[in-house]
Amino acid sequence: MSGDTIFGKIIRKDIPANIVYEDDLCLAFTDISPQAPTHILVIPKKPIPSLTEAENADKALLGHMLLTVKQIAHDQGLAETGYRVVINTGDNGGQTVFHLHMHLLGGRALQWPPG
Ligand code: 5GP
Repeated sequence: MSGDTIFGKIIRKDIPANIVYEDDLCLAFTDISPQAPTHILVIPKKPIPSLTEAENADKALLGHMLLTVKQIAHDQGLAETGYRVVINTGDNGGQTVFHLHMHLLGGRALQWPPG
């Protein structure tokens, strides 16, 4: 079972997504409401609700996800111009889907602070 969220359904292929990368540990797909020309979500197959619930046992998984983001950014042609990786966490962090995910945003100059 991959957790009772929309991302769990995407992992189980119960609902469709534009998957750009998949391996045993994680899945990457384009965001349904893109906030930049490239907006990809990288999620673990393990149903960790948010970064707050990640544990020491998840150290290798989190490292794998970050390096996967880096590889996808390279594959999407973002490495030279740059990109942003975001983990919204909890209500104040703006998290809306409670299955840990990294946003990869690129393809335009991004503003800072994010608001
Ligand atoms: P959060 O706000 O939790 O950091 O990010 C959740 C993201 O998931 C949002 O950017 C939202 O557009 C995206 N999202 C929500 N539902 C779906 C869906 O069914 N499919 C895809 N591809 N993205 C989704």
